[in-house]
Amino acid sequence: MAIFGGKPVRDTLLPYGSQWIDEKDIEAVVATLQSDFITTGPTIERFERKLSDYVGSKYAVAFSNGTAALHAACFAAGVTEGDEVITTPLTFAASANCVLYMGGKPVFADVDPNTYNIDPVSVESLVTRRTKAIIPVDFTGQPADYEKLQSIASENGLVIIEDAAHALGADSKGKKVGSFSDMTMFSFHPVKHITTGEGGAITTNNPVYYEKLKLFRTHGITRDVNQLEQERKDWEYEMQCLGMNYRLTDIQASLGISQLKKLAGFVEKRKEYARLYTKAFEKMDHVVPPFQMEGSQSSWHLYIIRLKGPLAKQRTEVFQALRAENIGVNVHYMPVHTQPYYQRLGYSSGACPIAESIYEQVITLPLFPKMTKGDVRDVIRAVKKVVTHYEKEAGV
Ligand SMILES: *Cc1c(COP(=O)(O)O)cnc(C)c1O
Repeated sequence: MAIFGGKPVRDTLLPYGSQWIDEKDIEAVVATLQSDFITTGPTIERFERKLSDYVGSKYAVAFSNGTAALHAACFAAGVTEGDEVITTPLTFAASANCVLYMGGKPVFADVDPNTYNIDPVSVESLVTRRTKAIIPVDFTGQPADYEKLQSIASENGLVIIEDAAHALGADSKGKKVGSFSDMTMFSFHPVKHITTGEGGAITTNNPVYYEKLKLFRTHGITRDVNQLEQERKDWEYEMQCLGMNYRLTDIQASLGISQLKKLAGFVEKRKEYARLYTKAFEKMDHVVPPFQMEGSQSSWHLYIIRLKGPLAKQRTEVFQALRAENIGVNVHYMPVHTQPYYQRLGYSSGACPIAESIYEQVITLPLFPKMTKGDVRDVIRAVKKVVTHYEKEAGV
């Protein structure tokens, strides 16, 4: 193995994710740079229209990044001081931080041991009088269990803010992600399905949320005559609430429009590579490929393997050996409630035992549309090489 001085499977490092920008993208951005508006212009609405058409929602509101979009969604949902919002610990910190921004309290439900998505049974057990919303995450691109989550939400009057940063292009029971939750968040960070450099959006079918999201994006200021609280002079506007400057630029929106045209192809490539991985790993005794729920279609942001049996305790060794083979493996995610900041807020480790044990056993493999079948073969070869070594060492 390369970690012991042998020849690595690859000569150069294969990253775990990367954007795919082509000449058309570059031309689109240059055209916007040469136009009258590089921000607050018409390209933003065009991007929003194309995004909502793609996912099948009534509205879309673009933001400067996905985290800003989540913050705005919490505002629109009315999350305020003392409100509780239930989310998963197996996510990027932003899914919970957005609740703190509004003075609310994130409450962490445990996850399903097969899908790694938020467990509706755990969610239900955590609902209190103060619960305002649920923020499920479509972890790795596989939709959470919305049949169960929606029934918990409607019984208890909760808002669902779906964190679909991983799931643009995914389907849940025949419905496109972005079309069915109260609000759905997407991110356009370069490792996600499409990119605008930084960027994010909320899709919704609710006109009240739509107006609130737009207000929050621009300082809480509106010039829309239909929204004004009083009659105003032509030059006047109203600041109606405390918002932020969370706008996406037209430059970024033009990149987004160009990238959206390639989204279907990007998702197909991700699905194809995920199939190749699963075909190779399902034959291995100590590697668990990602379990897929009946009736949903992941858009495969991440491909995560779990080590089992005697290898479950050797994740660190396997991880380091794969890195030495020049495979850019990663781990998603250190459970949010175990982060030092959350520990200082009073959250304790051990609160979500399933999520915490999954975190100890998983490795994220490279997966992005621009990689080649040869790259996929390298990853498979490296995993087999490293896992076989540790199996021999463990005598299994
Ligand atoms: C990427 C991501 C975010 C945040 O999106 P940004 O655009 O980076 O702010 C939120 N939640 C999850 C699960 C993510 O992967």
